[in-house]
Amino acid sequence: MTAIIEMDQVQKHYTKGKLTIKALDDTTISIAEGDVLGLVGESGSGKSTFGKLLIGLEPPTGGEIRYQGAPLWKKNKYVRRKPGELQTVFQDPQSSLDPRMTIKEIIIEPLYALSKNERKQKESYDNLLKLIKRVGLKEEHLERYPHEFSGGQRQRIAIARALITEPSFIILDEPTSALDVSVQAQVLNLLKELKEERGLTYLFISHNMSVIKYMCSKVAVLYKGNIVEIGSTEQLFNNPQHPYTEILLSSLPSLFENKEKAIEGFAETAQPKGENSCIFYEKCPRRTDQCMTSPALESRGKDHFAVCHY
Ligand code: ATP
Ligand code: MG
Repeated sequence: MTAIIEMDQVQKHYTKGKLTIKALDDTTISIAEGDVLGLVGESGSGKSTFGKLLIGLEPPTGGEIRYQGAPLWKKNKYVRRKPGELQTVFQDPQSSLDPRMTIKEIIIEPLYALSKNERKQKESYDNLLKLIKRVGLKEEHLERYPHEFSGGQRQRIAIARALITEPSFIILDEPTSALDVSVQAQVLNLLKELKEERGLTYLFISHNMSVIKYMCSKVAVLYKGNIVEIGSTEQLFNNPQHPYTEILLSSLPSLFENKEKAIEGFAETAQPKGENSCIFYEKCPRRTDQCMTSPALESRGKDHFAVCHY
């Protein structure tokens, strides 16, 4: 197993006046080449923040992130050895595609980060044509504008744009959450095929556990900026070790069911939380007095870890 991404005690804290928002708190994790790592958790748990640190949109406020062994951030500067190696596809293709650009212009835009030589080869019409067809669109679409396409087609355009630089790693941040159920399945299948064909590694962000189960080989569960459980998809779904994971799984919608049914937050109880208690203390159905002291990340089987006394 070669790690493509390693995060070592990575932190992203935002300060707003006197308030500190711990969007990501002491996260240590590695993503192996060829994996599809699912990142799951309720709204505000830090999923997108995790992705932003990797693609250079935000610097971490602590810890180290390495890509293929080399640091991705030096001080607050994003340093990649090869531009275009990490790409991303966002949730909302409506707002992530510039309405004034043609599809061709949109797809080739990431190439401007590359060297002239590399750009020339990838920018060739042949290459562009192959790519657009591979994602399920047609040659005549290249000269059109985003508003002429459906949500699913726009997401195919976003995928083509991510692929043009021939990346090894793609962050998919809720790539199908804005799509109709039937279209969602088609786009997920396309992503699966592309991963196999091109030997890609994905970070797959979602709050829909069914989609996570369908797509991912490993899953990390985030709660308030902390990874509370990580394991293979099989381990996590068949033998969850953290009460929060259990709760996420109990609200499992059947695959591609209406997205409204996907997990959200749940009622907080009135139990006061101590300064050193487990971060899940207030909401945990399994809490005991022991949970007034924070648990450490513990092994629960091969490559399976959880942060829980239970
Ligand atoms: P969602 O499922 O809604 O997309 P998420 O898990 O992606 O949620 P993040 O967007 O990573 O959550 O946000 C994590 C926390 O960090 C939230 O509390 C959010 O309000 C906060 N946050 C994110 N960006 C900023 C920012 N630029 N300034 C201040 N706080 C921020
Ligand atoms: Mg998000």
